[in-house]
This record gives sequence, C-alpha cells and structure tokens, in this order.
Amino acid sequence: MTQYKYLLDEKELPTHWYNVTADMEQPPPPYRHPATLELLGPDDLAPVFPMALIEQEVSQERWIEIPDQVQDALKMWRPSPVYHAARWEEALDTPAKIYYKWEGVSPPGSHKPNTAVAQCYYAKEEGLKGFATETGAGQWGSALCFATQLFEMECKVFMVTISYQQKPYRRVAMETWGGSVVPSPSSETNAGRAILEADPETTGSLGIAISEAIEYAVTHEGFKYSLGSVVNFVLLHQTVIGLEAVKQMEMAGDYPDIVIGCAGGGSNAAGLIYPFLRAKLDGTKQDLRAIFVESTACPSMTRGIYAFDWGDTAKTGPVAKMHTVGHDFIPAPVHAGGLRYHGMAPSICALLEQEHVEARAYHQNEVLGVAESFAKAEGFIVAPETAHAVKAAYDEAMACKESGESKVILFNNSGHGHFDLGAYDAFHRKDLPDFKLDEEAIQKALAELPKVPA
Ligand SMILES: *Cc1c(COP(=O)(O)O)cnc(C)c1O
Repeated sequence: MTQYKYLLDEKELPTHWYNVTADMEQPPPPYRHPATLELLGPDDLAPVFPMALIEQEVSQERWIEIPDQVQDALKMWRPSPVYHAARWEEALDTPAKIYYKWEGVSPPGSHKPNTAVAQCYYAKEEGLKGFATETGAGQWGSALCFATQLFEMECKVFMVTISYQQKPYRRVAMETWGGSVVPSPSSETNAGRAILEADPETTGSLGIAISEAIEYAVTHEGFKYSLGSVVNFVLLHQTVIGLEAVKQMEMAGDYPDIVIGCAGGGSNAAGLIYPFLRAKLDGTKQDLRAIFVESTACPSMTRGIYAFDWGDTAKTGPVAKMHTVGHDFIPAPVHAGGLRYHGMAPSICALLEQEHVEARAYHQNEVLGVAESFAKAEGFIVAPETAHAVKAAYDEAMACKESGESKVILFNNSGHGHFDLGAYDAFHRKDLPDFKLDEEAIQKALAELPKVPA
C-alpha cells in the first residue's frame, strides 16, 4: 500500500534551531553601517531589532534552544506533514520519487509564522509594545499580525501598493488579527513621502516598504522592526522545517538526492535545505543537490552581482554582502509578490559563491502551468511563490524521465494560494505577462551600490 504522508507527534517538534554558519568554512562577511559603511556593531542594530535576535544574528553556535513558549506556539500547527506526491508522479509518468513538506497548514497559510512567533516572544520578553513591518504579497504581514495578537502586541504593516491592490483579502486577514495596514509608499513616513513626490503612480517595492517600517519603528516608543526573511535569525527559525523533514524522510526510508525551495529572501528554502545541507558540508552526503529558485522578474542570484548592498531603498538598513540587482531596482509586478526582493539572504549567497548550492529562475506562466498540474494531481493550490519550487521539482522529475533515473526529490511547499487565485484566473484567461527583464534597469540600479572600504 502506498503511504501518502509522514506525520510526527507533537513531542517530536525540534527543541533547537540549526545555525548553518557554524558549519561554513567561510561564513558571510559581517554587516556594514548604512551611513558610514564601517563594520556594524550590536549597538547600531539595537534601536531596530530586539537584543536577543541581534545575538542570534551573529551567533556561531551550531544549535540554539527554542524557548518553551515558542515551542508551545509552534504546536498550534507543527509538526507539519511531509507528503509523498505519488499521484503527481503517476500523472507525470516519472521514475523520480517526489516528496514535499507542506507548510500551508499554519493559520496564515505559509511557513512565515515559524519566525513570527519566535520574534514576538523575544520582543515581549524585552518589554516591547509592538512591531512595525513591511509585507509584499501579504503573507509576512499576515504571519506577524497573527503572532503579535498571540503575544498580545500591536502590529503596524506597510504593504507594497501593488499587493494592497491585488490582494485586498490579505489586508482583511491582517485586520482580523488586529493589525493596522497602510499601502506603501505611504504619506506616514519621510521615506514614503519622498518616493510619492518623485513618482505618484509607483507600485511600490519591498525595499521602500522596509524603509518606511524601520522609520516608523525608530520614531515610535515601544516599537521595533520585524523582518520576515533574509537575515540569519529568520533563516535560523525556519530550520524547524528541515529538522522535521530529516526525521520524516527517515520514516519514508528515502534520502533526498535533490532538495528545492523557492527564494524571495531565502527563508523557507533555507529552512528546508540547511538541515540537509549539513551532511553535505561535513562531507557525508557530497552528492546532495540544493536548488534555490527565484523569479525572472527579480533575478538576484542568476543575473545580479555578489556585492555589498543596502537592504532597503532608503539606505537605512544594514549593508550586507549578497547577490543583488540593486536596492533601487523595482521589479515588474509579478503575482509572486514574495519573490520581489532585490537581494538574497547573505548565507545563501556565500554558499552559492562557494558552489555548495545552485540557483535558477523561472517566468510566471511556466510556473503556474506546472502548479496547475500539481493541483490537479495532489489537490493543493499553491502560492505563486511556491509554484517556482514546484516547477523546479517538475523539471528534475522530467530529467529523470529522460535518463530513466529514479532520484528522490524533496521540495518545500511553502504555502497555499487561496489569496492568490487572481493569479490563477489571469493564467486561465491567458492574461499573465511574462515580463521581459529590463537589463538596463538592473545596470542602472547596480551603478548605485555602496563603495564599501576593505
Ligand atoms: C513569503 C513567501 C515566500 C518567499 O519568502 P522566503 O523568505 O524566500 O521564503 C515563499 N513562499 C511563500 C508561500 C511565501 O509566503
């Protein structure tokens, strides 16, 4: 009999997060100060992030304990299932074995609350009143509003204008969880007002929304800023995904040859991949392939350069070495709003530079076409972001069909697409453009990178 899913008991929830930088020969270089470009110290970050998270950001410990209250919050929906996509394999007629970790079971419907509840716990411990944040597709804002109300805190969300217009129900979800949401750029911050003045018709970007959220946090008593991806501590919190999946693949009696995740800032992909990559970094699983999949609309890893860049458009956040298309780059309004960030997590970029992992990019029509074949076989309608990972799994399964190999593929199914049905609708109506990438726009944005002293 075919077994379709592998479930863990609540008591098997991981008790520690895994910190990949402890196992990297060359961890990513330290952050620089946004104004002076000198090395950034913990004190520089203190007005922006809770202290406990700053400590995690620079920690060299391999294992970091998950506080009891965070474990307790995670148990609302974790451990999450690993599915064997047997029906999809049959539909594709591939000898590959395909598995996916399903993160759509969380209340907001994605992996993002894994870090949101942890960040709220530490903020509450520090005595903070609330968080300010940005959101692209609305997934991160939803996750943080869900988590802040769980820990009895306030949440101020700057939502990228294009998503605010495309996904009104995400806003309603955030408001239902008690959050306060404004479209970004807004007239509530200096950063927002400056952008609006220059271009009143702008569709916004994550970089701009980040600038607004940071400005709001540092100018409001009892508030700090919360980030849903990119930085080390977020990737750290997401490793519960992979740590559970390692156990579930053991239950399935298979070990992945290929692990895949879609990457906006890189957190869900790293969350699944890093606990498996550990065995590649220590030499026991040298052949493991790890693939980070991005959108051709914002191709930081596949078309950008590896350099220091600001994390946000107004240059108020830390400067990090990463693959970037430039902090000024405003990507085309693709439906995968969560993949519209100009940079990528520094640890992923360092691993990419060192050739421990791979990157690739897809257009939105090809990914939605495959997501639809997945939905027909497996039932789940995935988020447009997730569809990029589904497409990579599909391509690898089709390569197996060509070669006759029966490789084991595991991908992170990072969230459901129930708020993104407009994307599927546009796809059905053949009204979904495959944006041609404006190389000139990237070159222009790259010319504005900081000149960081050695
Ligand atoms: C936000 C989001 C992403 C992209 O963010 P990462 O930090 O790269 O994981 C991917 N999938 C879903 C469902 C999301 O909500």
